[in-house]
Amino acid sequence: MNSFLINECAPLAKLGAEIQEWSFLERFPELAFIAKSNNSLGKQLEQSYLNAVEFSERYVAPQALAIDKKMTEDPHYVPEDLLKKACEYKLFSTMFPAFLGGSGLHPICTFITYEVIATHCVGIANLLGVNGLGICCVLASFDPRGLSVITKEICENEKNGIPTFLSTCVTEPGAGSDAEDADEFANAQLTTTAKKVDGGYILNGTKIFISNGGHAQIHAVMTFDADGAHTPDDQMLLLVRSGSKGLSIPRLENKMGQKACHAAEVHFDNVFVPENMMCRKDESSTSSYSYTGIANVLGVTRAAVGAWSTGVAENAYRTALRYARDNDFLGQPMEQQQWVRLELAQLARRAQVARSTYIGALLAVSTTGLISPLAITQKEPKLPDWLKHNNTVRNLREKVLSGDLTHRAFKFMAQLQTSAERDIATGYGDVAKVSCSELALENCQKAITLMGKGGLRHENGAEKLLRDVRLLQIYEGTNQVNMLDYVKRRVIRQFDTQLSL
Ligand SMILES: Cc1cc2nc3c(=O)[nH]c(=O)nc-3n(C[C@H](O)[C@H](O)[C@H](O)COP(=O)(O)OP(=O)(O)OC[C@H]3O[C@@H](n4cnc5c(N)ncnc54)[C@H](O)[C@@H]3O)c2cc1C
Repeated sequence: MNSFLINECAPLAKLGAEIQEWSFLERFPELAFIAKSNNSLGKQLEQSYLNAVEFSERYVAPQALAIDKKMTEDPHYVPEDLLKKACEYKLFSTMFPAFLGGSGLHPICTFITYEVIATHCVGIANLLGVNGLGICCVLASFDPRGLSVITKEICENEKNGIPTFLSTCVTEPGAGSDAEDADEFANAQLTTTAKKVDGGYILNGTKIFISNGGHAQIHAVMTFDADGAHTPDDQMLLLVRSGSKGLSIPRLENKMGQKACHAAEVHFDNVFVPENMMCRKDESSTSSYSYTGIANVLGVTRAAVGAWSTGVAENAYRTALRYARDNDFLGQPMEQQQWVRLELAQLARRAQVARSTYIGALLAVSTTGLISPLAITQKEPKLPDWLKHNNTVRNLREKVLSGDLTHRAFKFMAQLQTSAERDIATGYGDVAKVSCSELALENCQKAITLMGKGGLRHENGAEKLLRDVRLLQIYEGTNQVNMLDYVKRRVIRQFDTQLSL
């Protein structure tokens, strides 16, 4: 039987040595060029990384399995202490530019932050980061008034230690993939409607599988105008407050994985939504979106699923590495056997390929996609503190933000992008989502294979990873739907359009 032990190797490290976290440049060599050529961006990236590592090691890793178990038994459980800490680490405001009261960090910082958190628990990364989906939906309507409502609430609450959740309500019992595709959206079987009445809208319908829907303070609800023709021009995005009369949460799903972030059914029964909570495409418009708006959202949010997935791929590698360091196979330490080392190298390789893929998509959307205006409007004008917190100045800032001029500026920046540029960014998002989630799934399977029965024990973490990873291939449009989108954005273009980049 010992002939099985081909090529025994020297130990990987001294007995009992801990697995060390990488430095920023060791983990993200793809970003080294940017970090070194732009000193201030380099500092932002490194600081965000270190912040996320500290938060994850102190508060995510020690509780990930316990929260998974608790929320399997009771999906209503809310990990309050963890959320308070997330406020201290400013994880809710990280997505907003400084001129809106946010952290003022480059959008890339948000993605690497969430890759790090997902390396310890993708359910917790989703719990804290899924606000980004709603923010992108509001951003894509280019309505600064809507953006100002959510920013103010999320950022100010965070300062007071109150976590604020924004749910995004698109999926319905009869509409899933069709509502996750820019081309199919107009034909999607969405039945939630908003009827114009004096001073606002009356909203009716049911949304399902809504992440954080049960404890979100605001719901960004995708709906159609009840009197419209169900075309992209009739789409509306309404911001609905959780205490609104007629809004209820009939149930939370008992789903397979990512337990830390529950998925809820959200029901609207004649809910009145004031006029100023409708995100407008134009001052005069009664709708929120154009086709372009939805495509833009998907470019960013699919790249984000790439980051979440990379965290899972990295987690699977580390879980297998820890196991190999702590366990013997046929009486010899696993990590000293060549077949184990080859498996570990493949696990690390797949995590690295996933990382490069989502970072590539991210660079594309930061250059030509939805978040490109944010990438160049990060800096807040340098005002002394007393002036920044002065009420008149704050009111003035809000007026400017919610005014027509800002709206036009947002739209103008977006319109500078050509359709070819947008397709590149969104198509890259499709690739990141599909490739990273597939690599993550492969890593989870391989980790369990390497660990044998040890991989099936809850306390070793690999079993949770396999339950968590499968969800990444379904949300933000199934991987199949992402690939069909890729055909439309990239493959077809090679036949009838010259790329202009
Ligand atoms: C954990 C989790 C969290 C979620 N959070 C949210 C949220 O916060 N907000 C929200 O609105 N939604 C959310 N969703 C819903 C999610 O967006 C949908 O599940 C997803 O869009 C897929 O839709 P579906 O489940 O209805 O699948 P279906 O559309 O029913 O698809 C079933 C199968 O058919 C295939 N298929 C569908 N159309 C085509 C086609 N044209 N060609 C080929 N194959 C096709 C799909 O690939 C899939 O294999 C969440 C889902 C999960 C699992």
